Parts: sequence; structure tokens; C-alpha cells
Amino acid sequence: MSRYWSPVVGALSPYVPGEQPKLLDLVKLNTNENPYGPSPKAIEAIRAATDDTLRLYPDPGSDRLREAIAAQAGHGITAAHVFVGNGSDEVLAHVFVALLKHEGRKLLFPDISYSFYPVYCGLFGIEHDTVPLTDDFRVEPQDYLPAGGQAAGGIIFPNPNAPTGRAMPLADVERIVAGNPQCVVVIDEAYVDFGAESAVSLVARHDNLLVVQTLSKSRSLAGLRVGHAIGHPALIEGLERVKDSFNSYPIDRLASAGAIAALEDQAYFEQTCRAIVATRDRLTADLQALGFEVLPSAANFVFARHPAHDGAALAAALRERAIIVRHFRRARIDQFLRITVGTDDECARLITGLKAIFSS
Ligand SMILES: *Cc1c(COP(=O)(O)O)cnc(C)c1O
Repeated sequence: MSRYWSPVVGALSPYVPGEQPKLLDLVKLNTNENPYGPSPKAIEAIRAATDDTLRLYPDPGSDRLREAIAAQAGHGITAAHVFVGNGSDEVLAHVFVALLKHEGRKLLFPDISYSFYPVYCGLFGIEHDTVPLTDDFRVEPQDYLPAGGQAAGGIIFPNPNAPTGRAMPLADVERIVAGNPQCVVVIDEAYVDFGAESAVSLVARHDNLLVVQTLSKSRSLAGLRVGHAIGHPALIEGLERVKDSFNSYPIDRLASAGAIAALEDQAYFEQTCRAIVATRDRLTADLQALGFEVLPSAANFVFARHPAHDGAALAAALRERAIIVRHFRRARIDQFLRITVGTDDECARLITGLKAIFSS
């Protein structure tokens, strides 16, 4: 506390990111990073861009990067449909200000979802309501259709959802988008490449749909900080106005070079996603064999609880064995562990650790 703080600062409840321990040789399965490195071509491109041109500002419009994203997206998407930012967290921050803040109309998102959403509402003074997931932890499309009353000020949810990993079929996503023409529906697709259907194919048909994606997870570039949004050019223009009122150069020269090269290396991308999905299926079966209930995951993590072992206690016991998973002290999910899909070896070490805990 300081008397010099602006009044809003004391009232914030900031997002708490998963731990980034300084120790090495941990089995780090707590922040959904990709266990495989980025494309070697991305590393090479960053090296090649590391030269005297760093004295110059980058392109404020990130034109080449937006073109690479559009080319990769297909479905008639052009650079005018693409907005980029310093990680999708920054993209989301601009989305909340530019598109989701409407006096007297509340933003809707699930009660169990990405915990940054309520943080942005607090920072930007956005009224919101949370909509409970079903008992089996699904986002129920019907719950997001206006029932005659006041239209929502906006709707946002991840697909697949975090931290549950459950995906919504594309037809249900479209029902929500089509049923809410008076507000923007934002689909946060941070994990879509691990097994869900992207809503990018719907952008041409719906001018109130915005799809947010990131290179942090499936492209293994969490350290580079590049995310983007895809939607109707009028939505993108709104985002640009906010961005240019905040920071004109969110994508630095090295990030741009690395991101473009990563997007162009489709073979590496597909190979590493396939490996993670195969490991996820084995990890799920191994956890089930130990008695865990595992929610069906379309992401690079699984959400699991054990009927006989407390979630917080299990996370602490794993930590003593240098294995870090994520546990949320929150109603409805405090018995669950969110476990990132690592390499086969890391997942085997997790299972060995759990067996040791259960037999001690
Ligand atoms: C990881 C994540 C993000 C943010 O990713 P960036 O690294 O900021 O691009 C956004 N939404 C969800 C649901 C996430 O899990």
C-alpha cells in the first residue's frame, strides 16, 4: 500500500501466473508450455534478425506477420481481418476495452474459466456475470442465448475451456454467435490446435465473432509473446484504435521474425501437436488406471481429480518430489489438478511420483 497509488490500484486483484521456478531439473507441468522447443526455423530467423536493424523501431502495423497469420488461417481471411499483440493476454486486454465494455449491459463468461477475465473486468471497470458450467463441467450453449431480457454486453469463453480442457462443438459455438447479433462473442482458442474445431471458419459469416489465438502453446513460443485476433475488419479497426492509444509497437523485430518462421513451418507444427495428443491419451489412461477421474481433454493439459486424495495435498506431495502441477483453490474445482502434457518421459515421472505418494 502507498498513499501515492491511484485509487484503482488498491482495489485490483491481479492475475497470479503459474510458478516459473528458478530451479532446473524439475518436471514442470504447471503452465501449459509446450515440452518441445519451437521450430528450429523460428530460432534461425530470430538469429538472422539479430543485427544492426534493432536500432530501428519495428513496423507498427506488423504487416508481414499479419499476412503470415492470414495465409495460415485460410477461409478467406486477409491481413485486414487480423490483429496482433504482445501475447494473446495483451490482445485480450485490448479486446475488453475496445469491444466488451458497454454501460448497462453485462459481459458474460463461465464461472470456471480463464482467471484473467475477471481481472481485466476489475482493471477496466467492466460489469460482468458468470454463468455456471454444467455439473459435468461443460459450457452449455443455451445459457448464452438471450432469454428475452437485456442483451449481453459481450460473451467470452475459451474453446477448449481452461482449466477443464473440454471443447465445444463448432455448431454450438455458431449457435451462440448467431443468437447474439447485438454483441461481440470472443472465442479464446489458446488450445484449439490440440483437438478442437476452430471458429475461424465462421468469421466470414458473422461480423460479431472474434477468434483469439496464441503462438505460446501449439507453436511453443511462450517466451516470444505473440498472440492474435481474427475477425471482421471493423472489429480489428476498433482494436487498432485502442492499441495505438497504448503502445504502437507491441511486436518487436525478433518476435516478428520468429513468429513468421514458426507459422510457415507447418510440418514441425503438425508433428509436435500429434506427439502431444498421443502423450495426452497415454497420460489419461495412466491416470485413470490410478483411479483418477479425468475430464475429456482437447488441450495440451488434463484436468483430473482422485476420489481418495485431496487436490491441494497431492499437488504439495508432488512438489516435494520436484514435480509441479497447477492446483486452483476455487469452489467446484479445488479437488482437481491441472496437469500439462509434457514429454513421454516427464509424464512417466509424474505417474511414478503419484504411485510413490499413493503407496506411502
Ligand atoms: C495461455 C492462455 C492465454 C495467453 O496466452 P499468451 O501467452 O498471453 O498468448 C490466453 N487464454 C488462455 C485461455 C490461455 O490458457
